[in-house]
Amino acid sequence: MTELDDLRAAARAWVADNFPRELAGRAPVMGQRDLDDTAALEAWKTRLCAKGWGVPTWPVEYGGGGLSPAGAKVIREEIRKAGGWNPIGWSMGVRMFGPTLLEYGTEAQKQRHLPSIARGETRWCQGYSEPGAGSDLASLQTRAQDAGDHFVVNGQKIWTSGAQYADWCFCLVRTDPTRKHEGISFLMIDMGSPGIEVRPIQLISGSSPFCETFFTDVRVPKENLLGPLNGGWTVGKRLLQYERQRSDDAPARPGEARPLNEVAVEILGLDAAGCLADPDLRPRLTEHLMDRRLLRLTMDRAAADAKGAGPSAATSILKNVSSVVNQTRAELLLEIYGLGGLGWEGEDFDPDALANTREWLSGKASTIYAGSYEIQNNIISKRILALPDPASAAA
Ligand SMILES: Cc1cc2nc3c(=O)[nH]c(=O)nc-3n(C[C@H](O)[C@H](O)[C@H](O)COP(=O)(O)OP(=O)(O)OC[C@H]3O[C@@H](n4cnc5c(N)ncnc54)[C@H](O)[C@@H]3O)c2cc1C
Repeated sequence: MTELDDLRAAARAWVADNFPRELAGRAPVMGQRDLDDTAALEAWKTRLCAKGWGVPTWPVEYGGGGLSPAGAKVIREEIRKAGGWNPIGWSMGVRMFGPTLLEYGTEAQKQRHLPSIARGETRWCQGYSEPGAGSDLASLQTRAQDAGDHFVVNGQKIWTSGAQYADWCFCLVRTDPTRKHEGISFLMIDMGSPGIEVRPIQLISGSSPFCETFFTDVRVPKENLLGPLNGGWTVGKRLLQYERQRSDDAPARPGEARPLNEVAVEILGLDAAGCLADPDLRPRLTEHLMDRRLLRLTMDRAAADAKGAGPSAATSILKNVSSVVNQTRAELLLEIYGLGGLGWEGEDFDPDALANTREWLSGKASTIYAGSYEIQNNIISKRILALPDPASAAA
């Protein structure tokens, strides 16, 4: 028996004893966060966090499980086999900010923030984009002025996902207006500070997943600077690599428990030769299933190759490919459901089909957020293929 086999046996026994069975198979789908059974969910969250398995690869002293990526995968697999999921594993604190803090934070900063993220208690939001700074993020203008023992922050962020629920914001601010990339710093801002106003942006669907966030004379203690003064661009870019990293910790997608070909056969049936009854859909479905399998294998290989060193510029490739694979999945599922796949609400529609309509629409955003598809292609051409930068080539 290898160490991983021992871990698997221990994890299986622990999950059998601790995962509330009534939650089995009820992982929230993308965009649908809350379960009504909150007592069972809270119990599961508490037990998982006490074990350190909400953030299995973080060091034990900060509330993690101290496991290798391979060990974390074993835990994930055993929880999945029981129909469970990691209820804190998909937050911005866990996926983006925590790993960046582990790399760049002082000991005091780590002690202060990591354990509460690991317990799923504090929520973080991302203050990067501004009305005049999206793809060209380094044009950001939110200003942080030195006022002795603190900074005074003024400006506006936009598309701040979940800002209305967040306790803290990791924020890129301008500390030197005379320099572009070298004039940016990375601040941790308490969202309860006086002078912060959050205005949710209401979408046509009625939901408000993101906000405008205004800062007016907000005092931020100097100890909340992460990394060097004017060195925030490096820290911020590293965080983006964590954001772009894809993992199978993501909440389930509609119908994900069953392979797409099974759903297709159930709904469309088979022809006389025993093949899927829609000859046009058949090759596209096969191609998608192969792409999806290849993506999973490549993600595993990239994680193994990294040997715990974390993500690299290669995450831009995985981000683009996984966004397109997931968008294709939602398109195919929509086609398979036919008219039944066009419902928005109501009991006449299959719940999985309804969830897929929303996933199909919300999934369009995946080639925009965390840096658009085109910007990832620019990074791939510059940082991986070492092609000349079009901007400097033209100069
Ligand atoms: C669902 C969602 C959630 C988000 N959450 C957050 C969040 O929590 N916090 C946050 O800070 N931001 C968030 N964002 C903002 C996101 O990061 C930006 O939308 C994104 O970086 C693109 O910026 P932009 O919208 O200003 O588009 P623009 O930069 O104006 O781009 C418009 C188009 O031009 C293309 N383009 C621009 N420059 C180039 C170039 N050099 N080469 C080739 N093509 C180019 C882009 O690819 C895009 O297609 C979120 C966005 C979405 C959709």
